[in-house]
Amino acid sequence: MKPSVITAVVKHDLCTGCGTCVSLCPRNAISLEKNDQRGIYLPTVEHIKCNNCGICYNCCPGHSVNYAYLNEFSFGAIPSHPLLGNVRDCCVAYAINQERRYNSSSGGIITEILIYALEEGLIDGALVTRMNCNKPLEPEPFIAKTREEILEAAGSKYCPVPTNVAIKYILENEGKYAVVGLPCHIQGIRKAEAMNKKLQHRIVLHLGLFCAGTKTFLATELLLHKMNINPLTVTKIEYRGRGWPGSMSISTSVNDAAIIIPLSDYYSPYFSSFTPWRCILCIDHTAELADISCGDAWLKEITEDDNLGSSIVLPRSIIGKDIIDDMTKKSLIRIKEISTVDVVRSQGGIERKRRHVIRVNLSKLLGKSTPKYLICNDLPKPSKIDWVLDLFILCPRTVLAANRQTIQLLNIFLSIIKYVGKFIRKIKISAYSLCDVTR
Ligand SMILES: Cc1cc2nc3c(=O)[nH]c(=O)nc-3n(C[C@H](O)[C@H](O)[C@H](O)COP(=O)(O)OP(=O)(O)OC[C@H]3O[C@@H](n4cnc5c(N)ncnc54)[C@H](O)[C@@H]3O)c2cc1C
Repeated sequence: MKPSVITAVVKHDLCTGCGTCVSLCPRNAISLEKNDQRGIYLPTVEHIKCNNCGICYNCCPGHSVNYAYLNEFSFGAIPSHPLLGNVRDCCVAYAINQERRYNSSSGGIITEILIYALEEGLIDGALVTRMNCNKPLEPEPFIAKTREEILEAAGSKYCPVPTNVAIKYILENEGKYAVVGLPCHIQGIRKAEAMNKKLQHRIVLHLGLFCAGTKTFLATELLLHKMNINPLTVTKIEYRGRGWPGSMSISTSVNDAAIIIPLSDYYSPYFSSFTPWRCILCIDHTAELADISCGDAWLKEITEDDNLGSSIVLPRSIIGKDIIDDMTKKSLIRIKEISTVDVVRSQGGIERKRRHVIRVNLSKLLGKSTPKYLICNDLPKPSKIDWVLDLFILCPRTVLAANRQTIQLLNIFLSIIKYVGKFIRKIKISAYSLCDVTR
């Protein structure tokens, strides 16, 4: 790939839509636009303004991430664990404040850390994401400066989020900031910090979310379609919250009460298919470059008696560890240590770092480019089962869900199967009732 501007990354289908290039461009030549066909955000360049300086390309996590360099840069050490990166501790934790815990995704740890950091004077603001009140189905990254604004942003957003477009605010305004993002957002921010001292000094805390891949806007659109909800009537959508494992809440202008769908009902393999192709090629499930990473505690022994939620928490840096220790001491959070084996066991997605070679091969087969990752540890080879699962189930499903036309075809196909099924059932029922009559 010719290192020039961000258009090369988009052309090769490697853009994560993180928004770092938009903020870093010194000429404001880049903007992110929603691609309705694919349901993702992609950058476009105003070529009149662009002077090919290459900054957008160099800060982009889409085409490459040098983990060896960025681990040294962020933590002064190469990763201590081949699958998890640098970790100082592993624990399961939750916020003592029950309301905040209930309204967050898992343990409310991210929200609680941000409120702590703000109130202790560690930060002046935090880059977080809420849903846009004017466009309720789209996210809005912004700098939260009050406890209320941090609370407003709680909960995972299962749609594309261009978090790093708000880095521009941090570049333009003095202060100390925390950032919250998915692994790709944190990668973009660390790459940008390595190029820009101002950013490096202003961002004092990086909070990363575990991520098995975000979902395209088509996932939500199809869910609304299946539920006979007109997207234009939606006034508010929340993907998580309401205890563990939580639910989606959809408010519309035509219903008085919000429609609640449990996570287990909507987060189906069908919903998961709408993972952007670039996410399939990502190896960073646990946000390895964050100071503290958090994920859902998918451990049976933790979740079976838990209806409020707990998070897996991985402090990676000195500041990350100090914050978790101090919050525990001040009884803001409760923690329980677990092993790295438990962390890996809790998340199927962590293993995809090991399976990366399969996806690289599939990409080559499809004639697609792959991101370059420079990692420091040797990883065990994928098994035959991994090859079968990835090559014949996961990847084709994602390729099928990649754009509107293929989904429409898939829907027609599913509708035909549904109607044929109904028809066969009807024939069977009438045959039974005929038997009853003859008896
Ligand atoms: C797309 C996506 C995929 C995920 N995949 C996994 C997974 O595979 N396994 C797993 O264990 N956990 C996953 N998580 C993380 C999990 O859902 C929780 O976010 C995490 O456990 C933290 O919970 P919490 O209660 O501490 O966070 P909360 O206190 O609820 O705070 C969440 C914070 O994250 C920010 N945020 C929410 N969504 C986004 C987004 N899309 N982009 C950037 N910032 C955002 C919010 O602004 C808020 O500040 C995923 C999250 C997302 C958004």
